Order: sequence, then C-alpha cells, then structure tokens
Amino acid sequence: MLKQLKHAVFEAHRALMAQRLVFGTWGNASGIDRTRNLVAIKPSGVAYDAMKASDMVVVDLEGTVVDGDLRPSSDTATHLVLYRAFPDVGGIAHTHSHFATCWAQACRPIPCLGTTHADYFHGDVPLTAPLGPEDMAQYEQRTGEAIVARFDGVSPLHFPGVLVANHGPFAWGATVAAAVESAAVLEELARMAYHTLQLAPAQPAVQRHVLDKHFLRKHGENAYYGQTGQ
Ligand SMILES: [Zn+2]
Repeated sequence: MLKQLKHAVFEAHRALMAQRLVFGTWGNASGIDRTRNLVAIKPSGVAYDAMKASDMVVVDLEGTVVDGDLRPSSDTATHLVLYRAFPDVGGIAHTHSHFATCWAQACRPIPCLGTTHADYFHGDVPLTAPLGPEDMAQYEQRTGEAIVARFDGVSPLHFPGVLVANHGPFAWGATVAAAVESAAVLEELARMAYHTLQLAPAQPAVQRHVLDKHFLRKHGENAYYGQTGQ
C-alpha cells in the first residue's frame, strides 16, 4: 500500500515536470492514505529528473518520518495542516507555476471571468491573507493555517486550489493525480484571466447564473456532465 502511494506521488512529480508547472526543485506534491493517516511527499531539495519512487518520504500527520532515508520537503508542515483540516482532500500539489504565481505575487484573487474557470472553481480563486513577522518562526505551518482560515465556511471541494499571498498556488484533489490536474487547471485559468484583462481591463466576473450552471452541472448534487454511472 505504501509502495503504491509512493509511486503515485512520484508519478505526480513527473507529471508536474512534464506539464512545465515546476522549475528546478520548486514545488512539491503529496498524497495521503486516509486508512493509515500516512502521507507520502517529495524529498527536500532533490531534482525532479534524479528522483526515484523509493525516494518519496512517508510521514504521519504530525510530521514524524515513518519511511524513507531522505528529509521530507520543507513544505511538509503546510501539507499536513491541509490534510488535518480538509478530510476530503487526498492529494496536494504546490507549484510556482508562472501565471498563478504572478497573481499570488500581485496579491489578487483570480476573478472568474468565464465558463472554463466556472467548470472547476465556484467563483474567484481565493487568496490568503498575508503572513506577519510573528508567523516566520513557524512559516510552513502558518502558511497552511492561512489557507485553512481563508476556507472558513468555504468547501475545498468547490475551490480546488488557492493563491498564497506573495508566494504561489497550492492545489488539491481526491488523489495526488487529481491535485496535479487542479494545479494545471489553476495555471491555465490564471493565464486566461491575465490575457482577458489585458484585452478588457474592466471586464466583470461571469454572471452568477452562468457560474452556477457550469459549476453545478459538473460538481453539484445533481451533476450530469460526463458519463453517468462511472
Ligand atoms: Zn513555494
């Protein structure tokens, strides 16, 4: 079981690299086994093209390493805060993908300008509050807590990603592969919004009825998009 999880997390890193969502050693992905509450995550500072599935580090929800010879990603504490707070999340991907990071650095939520965005996010891609000097001693933990605070009253299933102010995107899904897809979608939505606002700087958000229609036909209680019964 752990071998499968480590392999899935390893494959997620290859997918992040193949989709050019990461650069150098930036970014990290993880997946959780909810039956055992164990998380497999990227080792710290290892180049993507030198990484092996056996290098993935397994930690418990408190961050204690239970399997692996390398140190886990320096962002592990952020991932663990999210897994503890979001029980439906099975995988997390953090990138510094170009356009999403530009929005995060500009400290602007990504407005929902059309149906491509509304198919995945039920509104703007949220932005966290900035961290203060008092947060620096436990920086990674506080980053996770800032995300959780932003999702107070908001379902992480309705918003499969977030922009951390001044930093970059975190995205998630039911599995680590789904988290990579969310990270890829978030980057593309960021790119589309950037160019839309270049063409039409005053463009308002998509109308509420169109937003609801597109999001809920894929994700609502009565979702009907795709092949039913699968
Ligand atoms: Zn980062």
